Parts: sequence; structure tokens; C-alpha cells
Amino acid sequence: MSSEKTDNKKSYIQHIGIISSCFPEKFGIPRQPGLVAHSSAVIDLYPPFNRAEMVSGLGEFSHIWVQFLFHQAAGDGWRSTVRPPRLGGQKRCGVFACRTPHRPNHIGLSAVRLLDIELGRNGPRLHLGGVDFLDKTPVLDIKPYLPYSDAIPDAAAGFAAITESGAPEQIRFTDAAAEFCHRYQLRYQRPLQNLIGELLTADPRPRSQKRKKEFGMRLWDVNIRWRMEEWGALVIAVDFWEEKPAWLDQTALSDNKE
Ligand code: SAM
Repeated sequence: MSSEKTDNKKSYIQHIGIISSCFPEKFGIPRQPGLVAHSSAVIDLYPPFNRAEMVSGLGEFSHIWVQFLFHQAAGDGWRSTVRPPRLGGQKRCGVFACRTPHRPNHIGLSAVRLLDIELGRNGPRLHLGGVDFLDKTPVLDIKPYLPYSDAIPDAAAGFAAITESGAPEQIRFTDAAAEFCHRYQLRYQRPLQNLIGELLTADPRPRSQKRKKEFGMRLWDVNIRWRMEEWGALVIAVDFWEEKPAWLDQTALSDNKE
């Protein structure tokens, strides 16, 4: 009998699907799942993993674990120690003691809310909430979250137990920014204003940028600008990245306020 030699130290992992999320760029993404309830994403499964039977029973779980590839960090390599934001960006810890995307296999793990499973012509589409995924993130595996085993209420959180300071206490919107969010929500059923409020409350600013006054981030197809004030954050402008769609000019605000 011939024997094949396998290298036990290497494995082949397939992408089983792809994430479309509200975060087209890294700036603004929460540092962990569950912190920003209105953040959302969908997973579309690739053939042959898109058979409805492969998700049979999953819809009975409120939360799932998603293993994914930090595809936008993969090209940057990794270091054996990193400076996590919770340690003020000054002190270092081991790569295996933190959740940085820059790790040897660039694999991420998030427990997220499973809102719905839609069965379409191209297979199941999983609708998720409370996510920390970049748009176009490759999915490696999906498993149900098991509270009886996965939830550990007396777990010690190491340096992650430290709370970060300096997050804005209040979030306000200019009238124009609030009006845009209102129209956008009516048009696309996307909770833009709530999402911006939650993201700014979670404070996406890296420590190195805390002295800056004005910031910008992108969500879906819109650009958001905000300014730090003594009392908190003022959202000064929300607009499309590219061309304004006709409905924005043509629809009077009063038409939308039923
Ligand atoms: N919960 C996951 C974990 O613990 O493995 C991710 C934690 S990691 C600290 C979260 C950050 O990874 C996000 O704030 C975002 O900046 C970054 N990120 C998310 N998806 C990514 C991707 N596909 N490629 C590179 N970075 C990504």
C-alpha cells in the first residue's frame, strides 16, 4: 500500500462565503461584535456550501460564531507583540493575548446576532446584527453560539477589562445631517442615524488621532463628517460618496414624513 506524506503543519482552508457589511472601510468599525447593535451585514454562501440543508436548524439560534479572514490585513503580515488600544497604544502584549487582525493566520472570530435566514435562488442569505466585519470579508466557517457553554460570566478579561476614556458623552446632528438620515432611512430601510449615534458613542478614533477636531467615515454608500466639541460629537454632514440620486433633490421632505 502506498503511503502519502502529508505535512501536518499546513492546512487547506476554503472560503465558504462572503460578507457584505455596512462598513466599506476599516475606520469606524467597532473593535468587537455586539458593541453597536445597529451595525449589520449579510453572508452569502458559495456553492457547494449554499445548499439550504446546510443551514437547516440554524435559524433556531439567536447568535452564531463566524470565523473569517482578515483579508485586508493579510498582506501586512504580523508581529509577535502588538499595542492594543485598551493599553493606550503604549504598552505591548503578545499577539496571542489580543484580537488584532495582524496575526499569523489572519483568522477572526465573532459572535453575532442571527436576525434572519433568507432562502433565495442563490442559496441561503444570513442577515446579521452587531457585527465588526469589513465589507467583502471572506467567511471560513459558521457555528451556532451555545450559551450553556460559550457564555462564561466569571471569566477574567485581562487588560480588556480596562475601559477606554474620552468617548463623546453626547452625539448631536445638524438639521441637514438629520434630514439626510431620515430620508435615507425611508428610502433604504437602513437605520443610519441610530447607527452613526452608536458608532460615535463607541468612539472609533484611534488614540493617535484624539487631538484632531474633524473626522470622516463611510457607511454603506454615504460619507459622514463629524466634529468634536467640548460637550461631545456634532455630526455636521452626511451625504453620498458619489453622485446624488435624483430622489434626494426631487422628494420634498414633507412627502417623506408620514
Ligand atoms: N471579533 C474579531 C476577533 O476577535 O477575531 C475581530 C476583532 S478585530 C480587533 C476587529 C477589527 O478588525 C475591526 O475594528 C476592523 O478594524 C478590523 N477588521 C474587520 N474585518 C476585517 C477584514 N476583513 N480585514 C482586515 N481588518 C478587518
